Parts: sequence; C-alpha cells; structure tokens
Amino acid sequence: MPIDINKIRSEFPILNQKIHGKDYVYLDNGATTQKPIQVIDAVSDFYKNTNSNIHRGVHHLSDLSTKAYEAVRSKVQNFINAEQEQEIIFTKGTTDSINLVAFSFGERYINTGDEIIISAMEHHSNLVPWQMLCERKGANLRVLPFNKNGELEMDKLPGLLNDKTKLLAVTHVSNSLGTINPVKEIIEQAHKANVPVLIDGAQSIQHSIIDVQDLDCDFYVFSGHKIYAETGIGVLYGKEKYLKEMPPYQGGGDMVDHVTLEKTTYLDAPFKFEAGTANYVGAVSLGVAIDYINDIGLKNIAEYEAELLQYATAELEKIEGLTIYGKAKHKTATISFLLDKIHHYDTGMILDKLGIAVRTGSHCTQPIMDFLDITGTVRASFAFYNTKNDVDRLVAGILKVKEMFA
Ligand code: PLP
Repeated sequence: MPIDINKIRSEFPILNQKIHGKDYVYLDNGATTQKPIQVIDAVSDFYKNTNSNIHRGVHHLSDLSTKAYEAVRSKVQNFINAEQEQEIIFTKGTTDSINLVAFSFGERYINTGDEIIISAMEHHSNLVPWQMLCERKGANLRVLPFNKNGELEMDKLPGLLNDKTKLLAVTHVSNSLGTINPVKEIIEQAHKANVPVLIDGAQSIQHSIIDVQDLDCDFYVFSGHKIYAETGIGVLYGKEKYLKEMPPYQGGGDMVDHVTLEKTTYLDAPFKFEAGTANYVGAVSLGVAIDYINDIGLKNIAEYEAELLQYATAELEKIEGLTIYGKAKHKTATISFLLDKIHHYDTGMILDKLGIAVRTGSHCTQPIMDFLDITGTVRASFAFYNTKNDVDRLVAGILKVKEMFA
C-alpha cells in the first residue's frame, strides 16, 4: 500500500510552517522525529482529563493513569514481539537504557579481566557507559572495526569472541553512516560463544519491523522521541533470565516490595528497574505513536524511505565535489556528506537560511570521524513524511552553498 503523503504531512503541524521565509524542509530525523497531531493531542487530552500519578493511588484517575501506562507496556511488547510483558522496562531513552544495563548487568556479571565487545561505529551512548563499566570493574573493551564503505568487518568477529567475553553491544543502524548492521548474524555468532548481545535500536525501531524473538537479542533499546513520541521516554527490552538476576539500577519509590530502616526488598522486573515517578505521560505518547506507525505500516514506511534514499543518493552523487560517507550495501535513509573543502558547519548554516534543517558535526560518533580522518559531516536523515521535493530543495541548497564558496 503506498503512503498517503499529503495526509501524513497534514498531520505534522511543525512541517507546515515557514522558516526564514521558506517552506520548511526537516532532514534531522536521526536526532529526533517530529510528532503527529495524534500524539500532540493525546498528551494534551491526558493532562486535561486523566493525569494522576500511577501505581499508588486508589482514586479513579490514578487507576486510569496506571491502566494507560501499563497498556503501553503491552503495546510495546506486541510491537517488538517480546515474549513477556515483564521484559519491557520504561526508561528515559536509549542512553538511559544502556546505562541501566551497563550498571546492572555489570554489577552481576562483569569481573576483572572480562571483555566486552562493541563496534567502532557506536554512538557515544553505546560506548561511554561500557568504558565506564570497564574502568569500574577492571574489564577490557574490544572493538569490531568497520571498512571504508562503513560496513562492519565481520570476519574479525570470531577473533574477538573468547572465554572472557561477557557481552557484545552493537548498534543496529549507524546514526552517522546509515549502515544497517547484520545483527542477526552477529547474535548467532555471539550466542555460539555463550555471549549475550545488546542491540542499540535507536535508529532501527522507526525504520523496520523489529522482532526481538526472531533476532534472539538479549537486550534491545530505543528512544520514544526518535519514533514520533515525546522526549524523556524510552524502552529497555531484556530477556527475563537476565532481568531476574540483575540488581536494581536506582533505588526509590515504586520499585520496592518491603522497606524497613534496616533493609529493603525489591519488586520483580520490570518494576525493580523503574524507581520514582515514571514518565507515564511519555509512555502514553509512545503508545499513540506506535498506533500511528502501525496504521501506516512499517513495511510501507521502509519501502517509501528506501525509495527516498535511492533518489537522494543518486541526486547528491551528481553534485561535483560532494563526497558521501557511508556507502554500505544495506542502509537506512541517512546520508552523511561533505562538500569540497567547505566546513560542515558552514554548509549547515547556509542550508538553514534556506529553510533546510540538517545536522552537522560528529553526530556523537567521534571515533567514526577519527577513522574517516574528518572533523564531521553534514547529515541528512529522512523520515516517511519527507518527499522527493525535500530532496530537490536539499540539492538546490547545496548548489547554492557551492556557488557562495566558489
Ligand atoms: N544510539 C544511537 C544509534 C543514536 O542515534 C542515539 C541518538 O541519536 C542514541 C543512541 C542516544 O539516544 P538518546 O539521546 O535518545 O538517548
């Protein structure tokens, strides 16, 4: 079923405005996605009619709030096909989810001399928490490299997996290069060596159908704000066998079973990992965003975005002096590039004046930039509300930048 682009664009109010007097072209979806009116209205309605703290009230609205929050847990379970609802933990976002695992899994399973594998194309969120864990525990970080096209060097993986390896954490999709990594193959290889795998799904959840049972990943994490929901809500999926063993990450209300001044016992997962007042309104927004995406269909979204990627790549490649970074065979609709010797900030600032929003810099992936021997790129990242007209505007904008620097 083709995407009804006019209907979709009418549902994202922010897209229908002028920036610097020009029709707005938003190509910074890798950083955050815009919100459909259904999500915006649902949040507003919730505050108007339902808001009340969850889990601890006997009164009517607290009961409704709690039910709304827990219904989203079940919705997320279905969305990523988790086996059990208790395997879905609400967090603040991808970074929070990874820090939770790094601390809690680390406390339970990581000892001096152990090894954790990551790839060289990780977002800082899937790198720094593991460095901190290694420092805390005297463990070692091993790194799977990638090649000039931005593809992981899979032949190097067997040499990294050994008896000391306790976890492998890898991104499903690179936020800077757009590469879709062969995570199923990585998980299979890691499991053969008895190594659990965490998948950073921050850039995959919004672009493709995710089935955590089919992937057989042990942890999968993502952020609500990158999948058309509010900021401040995210998800950690974890296999029950690990969640059962992992100690709480933070202490406080809502995660306890019994508390005395001497000792506290904790609830089971997911609650033992959700200390304090949860972002239940954020969760409600996530539920509405998931409904919205399901209505369009992730298969349709993936097909539409693949067509946009193909068109944008072909058009950008026609521009003399433009270099695309990240030429993997399997990519999402994210294109990083540089133009001649023009600094990425200059390109980004001029495009902004033309009403076109792109991201510039290292995209929280400084090791990728070091590998490529550049300081940063201009990144255009697309969503299903973008159009070929947006691509044409980007191309015209880039030609204008070239002209100004000629
Ligand atoms: N991982 C990847 C691949 C990302 O692209 C991002 C954000 O851009 C993150 C992790 C961190 O996400 P958040 O800032 O929502 O926690």
